[in-house]
Amino acid sequence: MNFSDSEIVISLLKEDGFEPTNNFEEADLLFINTCSIREKAEKNVKNRLKIFNILKKKKPKMIIGMLGCMAERLKLKLLEEEKLVDLIVGPDSYRDIPYLIKLVESKNAINVTFSNSKEETYADIKPVRENGVSAFISITRGCDNMCSFCIVPFSRGRERSRDPKSIIEECEELWKKSFQEITLLGQNVDSYIWYGGGVKKDFHKASNLKKYTSINFAKLLEFIAKAVPSMRIRFSTSNPCDMSEEVLEIISRNTNICQHLHLPVQSGSTRVLQRMNRKYTRVEYLSLIRMIRKILPDCSISNDIITGFCGERDQDHNDTLSLMEYVKYDFGYMFAYSSRSGTFAEKNLKDDVTEKIKKRRLSEIIDLQRKHSYERIQRHVGKVQEVLIEGESKKSKFHWYGRNSQSAVVVFPKDNSHLGDLVKVKINDCTAATLIGEVLKH
Ligand code: SAH
Repeated sequence: MNFSDSEIVISLLKEDGFEPTNNFEEADLLFINTCSIREKAEKNVKNRLKIFNILKKKKPKMIIGMLGCMAERLKLKLLEEEKLVDLIVGPDSYRDIPYLIKLVESKNAINVTFSNSKEETYADIKPVRENGVSAFISITRGCDNMCSFCIVPFSRGRERSRDPKSIIEECEELWKKSFQEITLLGQNVDSYIWYGGGVKKDFHKASNLKKYTSINFAKLLEFIAKAVPSMRIRFSTSNPCDMSEEVLEIISRNTNICQHLHLPVQSGSTRVLQRMNRKYTRVEYLSLIRMIRKILPDCSISNDIITGFCGERDQDHNDTLSLMEYVKYDFGYMFAYSSRSGTFAEKNLKDDVTEKIKKRRLSEIIDLQRKHSYERIQRHVGKVQEVLIEGESKKSKFHWYGRNSQSAVVVFPKDNSHLGDLVKVKINDCTAATLIGEVLKH
């Protein structure tokens, strides 16, 4: 999402006469787009700022700005902590950047703008994209779910959906520019709802006609699939409490929608899920998994898990392991819980699982996921699959890498194929996380 937001910021700055550079040392203006989701993300930013500090000493006129969730979360506190920062701008205030730069230039003053919006979706801004193959498109901003561990509702504000017309136009434009794949982005794409703009609270006040004519995620997905029928479509993230059968049916009916769902469970224990305010139980999550397997038997499922959440006992951890055994995720992202200031959990629950236990549980979860990833990836071996060529393999300039519909990475010799081609690849072998194949000759 930050990657996509940075493309919006580049677009806004281009209109103002700036050009992006790949060499940050030569920049006049340096922005760091920040994440607050875990403590580690913020530590990474602070380390990066140390490098910028050295640079600023050499180039005192360079303007340094901080964007994103950390800017929104820490606000003026950042000015005390990070003396080198000239600009601090939260995720809903990027339109102010050109004006703020002028202020900094003219007054040599520090400038700050934040406050989450109920309307801003940047629908009219055309992001500047460098990669010509695959593009991110934000369809919602913010989040209303209020999971007790999560900082997002505070750093990115209330959930808003973007005008479907502007989304579809952007997809069509990308197709004309030869992009081959889009990924629709939102904290919770399944709760996308368009009835004319604004946040969901106003939706309840909206007229019956508006409610009747509203567009949900399933409809949006179908519109896009029909508008760009040869474009690959992905989306992320799906919250299990909002995912609908209708969405699964639409995926099964449209071959250009990829067979991959990112469906974070966070914990396999209903007791922990309730404390997390996730709004589904273990039983409900598992019946959703069964529905997915029935409607989309070939679909891959990936996952996020937080281990060591407040009050998590050994039994809860075992519930997470047994849920993983049942589902056998294709891949997953696993994290030790870190308390985030201002969240319900930070204010009301005790972060009482020791670091040592968090570490042990995390490594057990990671080991199990590795085993499952290896088991799951083998089902592709021996098949011929469509792969979109996304770039050169990091290990060899004679090989491409791309992904199959299930989002597994495939590496194969270049032969006569080109970047951006959708090729048929015979999968011959695999490692724990990568498929190895060869392009089928026509
Ligand atoms: N909107 C998505 C989550 C996006 S954040 C959803 O509801 O599933 C990406 C992941 O970061 C989360 O799924 C969660 O696993 C992890 N995460 C969020 N807050 C965290 C915290 N305080 N500590 C550790 N991991 C966290």
